[in-house]
Amino acid sequence: MSEPTDTQRMEKIVSLCKRRGFIFQSSEIYGGLNGAWDYGPLGVELKRNLKNYWWRVMVHERDDVVGMDGSILTHPAVLKASGHVEGFSDPMIDCRTCKAHLRLDQLVEKKGVTQCPICGGKDLTEARQFNLMFETHVGAAADESSIAYLRPETAQSIFVQFKNVLEVSRKKLPFGIAQIGKAFRNEINPRNFTFRSREFEQMELEYFCRAEEGMKWLHYWLEERLRFYENIGIPRERLHAREVPDEERAFYSKGTYDIEYDFPFGGQELEGVAYRTDYDLLQHQKASGKSLEYFDEETKQRFIPHVVEPSAGVDRTVLALICDAYKEDHAPDEKGKMETRVVLRLHPRMAPIKCGIFPLLKNNERLVAKTKEIVALLRPHMTVFYDESGAIGRRYRRQDEIGTPFAVTVDFETLGEKDVALRDTVTLRDRDSMKQERVSVNDLVNNLTSRIT
Ligand code: ATP
Repeated sequence: MSEPTDTQRMEKIVSLCKRRGFIFQSSEIYGGLNGAWDYGPLGVELKRNLKNYWWRVMVHERDDVVGMDGSILTHPAVLKASGHVEGFSDPMIDCRTCKAHLRLDQLVEKKGVTQCPICGGKDLTEARQFNLMFETHVGAAADESSIAYLRPETAQSIFVQFKNVLEVSRKKLPFGIAQIGKAFRNEINPRNFTFRSREFEQMELEYFCRAEEGMKWLHYWLEERLRFYENIGIPRERLHAREVPDEERAFYSKGTYDIEYDFPFGGQELEGVAYRTDYDLLQHQKASGKSLEYFDEETKQRFIPHVVEPSAGVDRTVLALICDAYKEDHAPDEKGKMETRVVLRLHPRMAPIKCGIFPLLKNNERLVAKTKEIVALLRPHMTVFYDESGAIGRRYRRQDEIGTPFAVTVDFETLGEKDVALRDTVTLRDRDSMKQERVSVNDLVNNLTSRIT
């Protein structure tokens, strides 16, 4: 079987996401809202597994990080001080032929002539700055005084609450504040499925430290974050840490790395790890007139801490997980004939459903009753799916396609009808190797939980 091209591969992934309930277009029945996506029953589980694991390793398993959950509606003064009102924009160009709005970096050049990538038109406007923030009004008056913004990143609420969090958590430098939440950017051209959306989620850590240790923590966090992706099943060889060159870096940053993943549509950013110096806290201190200094009890010095920020996209990581997991291989059908199998080889930690549980036959009361007992046994520990319809092979295939790593089948041996020694044992099938082993029902919880956490 020949490998599908990358465009075909992407089309298959998008279609699987819809067909099996991972991701739907937002407002689909009304024609869709560009740049917005809804996660279905399986997508929401995958997304939660990712966010929960991030929170576990970035907050719960560390002594030096605490969490917070800031508001989405943001006071304009916050985003004026941070520089977003003035400068959070992309250069935009219009094609006069097909009327498309384009980001400057999307234009293509053919034989030295700049063209529209959609229609090939050469009649283009000059570039102008387009601010990516969504503006809204708070309260009844829709005038200048009531403007607020939907936050374009979660980071600013962390900086603005730095002093409050510092006081209540009584942390000493270095320490971090973590947040997961929605962010909004009015992207000129949302594209590549969920990769560039207008509404998305971020997982951000602001790690505060002394100025002299900024570069050290930048490299520390880069390594930690690369390890994170490996621990959720994305292999290092498909990740690239790109050092952002001086001319592309924000003026206040002393060093930034983009962690890129090889998507079917090219190597693209999953996460930015940036050493932002003391820029943000200093800006907010100046604009608010409130001290955001840290007091060092030992040296009796007051100073503004520096910050290193690993900022990851939830939706981009979910997409990378799905793209990386999508495989087509071969498996025998009911009659032993080889057929193409679509399988999501998701890391068990990320898989939306951990275990499929099937009675061999649906019309045998004893088999069904025993299977339901096993469902009840596993359900407090993991997400499970009971399925009694169709041949066992079909049921395996349905779980393979959504990435379920394990499947348990209850048969007559489980009931002790053929061999009393096999009573209360089930077959446990592994999604990737398709191998089956006989395991005791009593061992199931331990056996599976050790592999999914
Ligand atoms: P890009 O260059 O791709 O626009 P960025 O450098 O502006 O991204 P950051 O401001 O560093 O992105 O945001 C941190 C993370 O938030 C990104 O690495 C990405 O995972 C996520 N992110 C940013 N913009 C979007 C978007 N429009 N849709 C989905 N995720 C996004």
